[in-house]
Amino acid sequence: MLAIDTPVQFIKGIGPSIAESLAEKGIGTAEDLLYHLPFRYEDRANPRTLHEVVAGEMASVIGEVRGSILLRTRAMPIFEMTLVQGTGTLKCIWFRGTYLKDRFQAGQTVAVFGKVEASRSSRGFKMIQPQFEILPQATEEFSSLEMGRITPIYESLGGTKLGPRWVRRQLFTLLGELGGRIPETLPAAILGRLGMPSRDTSLHQVHFPDAPTSLSQLQSARTAAHRRLIFEELFFLELGLEIKRRKAKERAGIAFAPSEQVRAALREVLPFHPTAAQKRALGEIVEDMKQPSPMRRLLQGDVGSGKTIVALQAMLIAIENGYQAALMAPTEILATQHYLGARKMLERATRDYRVTLLTGSLDVHHKRAARGRIANGEADLIIGTHALIEEKVDFNRLGLVVVDEQHRFGVMQRFRLMKKPGQGEPDVLVMTATPIPRTLALSLYGDLDLSVLDELPPGRTPIVTRRGSDDRSDEVWQFVRKHVAAGRQAYIVYPVIEGSSDDQPELDFPAPEEPPAKPAKRAKTPSLFERPTLKAATQMYEELRAGPLAGLRLGLLHGRLSADDKEIVMRRFQRGELDVLVSTTVIEVGVDVPNATVIVIEHAERFGLAQLHQLRGRVGRGSAKSYCILMTGGRVSAEAEQRLDAMVRTQDGFELAELDLALRGPGEFFGTRQAGLPDFRVANLVRDRELLELAKREASAFVASGGTEASEAERALVAARLKQAWQRRYGLVEAG
Ligand code: ADP
Ligand code: MG
Repeated sequence: MLAIDTPVQFIKGIGPSIAESLAEKGIGTAEDLLYHLPFRYEDRANPRTLHEVVAGEMASVIGEVRGSILLRTRAMPIFEMTLVQGTGTLKCIWFRGTYLKDRFQAGQTVAVFGKVEASRSSRGFKMIQPQFEILPQATEEFSSLEMGRITPIYESLGGTKLGPRWVRRQLFTLLGELGGRIPETLPAAILGRLGMPSRDTSLHQVHFPDAPTSLSQLQSARTAAHRRLIFEELFFLELGLEIKRRKAKERAGIAFAPSEQVRAALREVLPFHPTAAQKRALGEIVEDMKQPSPMRRLLQGDVGSGKTIVALQAMLIAIENGYQAALMAPTEILATQHYLGARKMLERATRDYRVTLLTGSLDVHHKRAARGRIANGEADLIIGTHALIEEKVDFNRLGLVVVDEQHRFGVMQRFRLMKKPGQGEPDVLVMTATPIPRTLALSLYGDLDLSVLDELPPGRTPIVTRRGSDDRSDEVWQFVRKHVAAGRQAYIVYPVIEGSSDDQPELDFPAPEEPPAKPAKRAKTPSLFERPTLKAATQMYEELRAGPLAGLRLGLLHGRLSADDKEIVMRRFQRGELDVLVSTTVIEVGVDVPNATVIVIEHAERFGLAQLHQLRGRVGRGSAKSYCILMTGGRVSAEAEQRLDAMVRTQDGFELAELDLALRGPGEFFGTRQAGLPDFRVANLVRDRELLELAKREASAFVASGGTEASEAERALVAARLKQAWQRRYGLVEAG
């Protein structure tokens, strides 16, 4: 008998070959198909008449095809189809519509959806590029599905063959055959308390809503059925996180002792008075470090808020307790900078701290030596890149791991495994500048505790941000010269290293914010007439050196340089031996040179908002007034305009993050795939924030009470579902 876990291949109407296409879309079982929800609904019970519609609104209109024609204009072929409804006409227009040539026949009934516009020629209305569906003759078996009701519109599951109409019919059959046998996953007590419908009812209602359902609630996924399905998905995410967090607390860690002697060691090296926020964060970290269970903490703070020093203090506590501490950075440049910075700060100490750098591009000889020092305990503080977990590093006595500027899952797992028999698990501190809105951070990183640096160190002046188009570049170079003459330094940033290809990855491994998804997409559809030529770092370095910036000391930095060359360039810029650093986005994260007060970002339209904010964070790190100049060449899309305007308007990382989240959607914002974060089937983290919080509350209450609200059978169901959800959706096996 057909059940929810039946492979799609065995569903009526789907054979092995369609099943193969569906597998490509991640649909393997009946359940997967049921969770392919409509992305839109049309009210075909009460379709709009052409007398009611108003130019400018989005509407679905049903009418009869009168005729169609393919016009070959000089610019492109245009396909026109005329729809009549009573005395009204609606002209539907598709640019490059050759493919539609034989689709319509006079007399067919067609539903179109799009923006209604006034038409000069036909005295009626027109629609440009509407979505359409040719409706069946009233005698057909399924006609009640597509007409005279609220009709679900689906994304195609493969070409026109498995198009919206196929999906609709398939789901209708499937729901019919399952006939009320879709099992519940949530305890009745929770559903009752929240007034939510059963899973069976919900799945029926989201696909084929009853007549009186509000169309606007359907469109915004706010019907009871939608809310229940979203809640369910988020509940199992939160439940898994909550259990992970509790389990971590039960494991054996290391109880560090922040003795008076340790505090004295910290005071000795601290180069400035910490801000109140830094003190509070360190206090929270120290509290965790004192506990005998392993610390799992996220330190969040906008660019320039001073996370590094907090981490260094925590690492000193570990070292003073006789352990090793490791700091992992996403790029070699950043690792090198941390290494140089730590060495400089620790010079002040009476005790001799042994600091070791380990990155992927060190030569074999150096690497071996570094690994040796780490293994036999000669290294106290180890700073490196991903090489730290990739190069089979054997730590002698690892006590604390700090992961800088990224928030990927999985990393912590690996460090956990590095503990030696008989030793406790190391503490882990993850740092990020990605200003995840706090409520989201708490819910998404439910297995981490959170500390926030919500205050910048004193004496910072706001960064002045200006936009400029390429024809004013002379002015910009003059501006750079003026600042260099005053003893300051500048960055000039380009989107690519050389040539105009987009395919030039810059980080040693992809950071969540990178690469910017939008520019990459745009590059796939170049403008009609020209392929944009991109200015690249290497060419512009030569050009600027020979031309507008002749006489200044220029350096070039990008990801393809050897580790040594990177270090040399960075050092020279840091020491003020270079005036201008021409660079790619390798400087995006963490680079800290307070004397640099100007950053010019060329092709700013190509960068994502998070990236622009990070790049701007390279300046304004000292007390001198700083400038960020966003240069754009050529056409700027409407969305890029919004990003650039936002950059000029505000410097608040949280505000920018909210906008970024809204513009890009959560998947891209969080770098879902790389981050190992869930790809939701129904939930949307921006839209459903309130349900996320509800789910978190319910999940932690459920765990805290041991699920006593539920019957034993229900608890077993919840456990099974949890395991399944985490294995399938989040690829983590150890949740149950
Ligand atoms: P981020 O949080 O972006 O990693 P950093 O740790 O690199 O920020 O700090 C930014 C700059 O601010 C550095 O130059 C650092 O030395 C300086 N800084 C940090 N904390 C303070 C403080 N309490 N007072 C003065 N300067 C500080
Ligand atoms: Mg930093």
